[in-house]
Amino acid sequence: MCGIVGYIGPREAPSIVLNGLRRLEYRGYDSAGMAVLQDGKLVLRRSVGKIQRLAELLEAQPVQGHVSIGHTRWATHGSVTEANTHPHTDCKEQIVVIHNGIVENYRELKDELLAEGHAFRSQTDTEVIVHLVEKYRDESGDLVSAVRAALQRLKGPSAVVVLSALDPDRVVAARLGNAGGVVIGYGDKEMFVASDMPAILEHTQTMSFLESREMAVITE
Ligand code: GLU
Repeated sequence: MCGIVGYIGPREAPSIVLNGLRRLEYRGYDSAGMAVLQDGKLVLRRSVGKIQRLAELLEAQPVQGHVSIGHTRWATHGSVTEANTHPHTDCKEQIVVIHNGIVENYRELKDELLAEGHAFRSQTDTEVIVHLVEKYRDESGDLVSAVRAALQRLKGPSAVVVLSALDPDRVVAARLGNAGGVVIGYGDKEMFVASDMPAILEHTQTMSFLESREMAVITE
């Protein structure tokens, strides 16, 4: 149950998210990754090991954007590999999900999604979430109701953050049970989300905390 950090606002998001992840290092983790909305597309940077390796990757292959979500993983399902590092993407690479916790019924959900033609790239339980969001978003055309419908299918504790290139003005976060918290931080025309206060405390002291089964839609 590791770290989550997200940002939406006028500033360059990747460095804010990276610094936030560093402030969550105390929680322990085995890999780290980030998705950034750059020129309307989701760009991923992921690496196994220390956050410093993700920082070096970002230095070698910079990415820019004003919306980003990042994650430190403590593997529960699937080995510690780059393919299993969050964020995870849907089939069309238009939606990304980061997740703390465990999808206890992921096997049934994965079988259902495979039968419907979804292609999986990781061994994680988490990946079912992004394909469920994809499925429901395809059906409804609406990200928020798609996330709600997806989360209603999950069993077990989860903290989830979703970003979609089709809905670039928002980040959706939710909490089911206790997989670490979900904190929303309020800035001046900018917003933050994190699994714990230290990640965003340097930016804002105005925060709210999601209860279990609450969802937040954050915009600038
Ligand atoms: N169960 C997920 C995985 O193994 C998330 C683990 C976590 O909370 O970091 O990838």
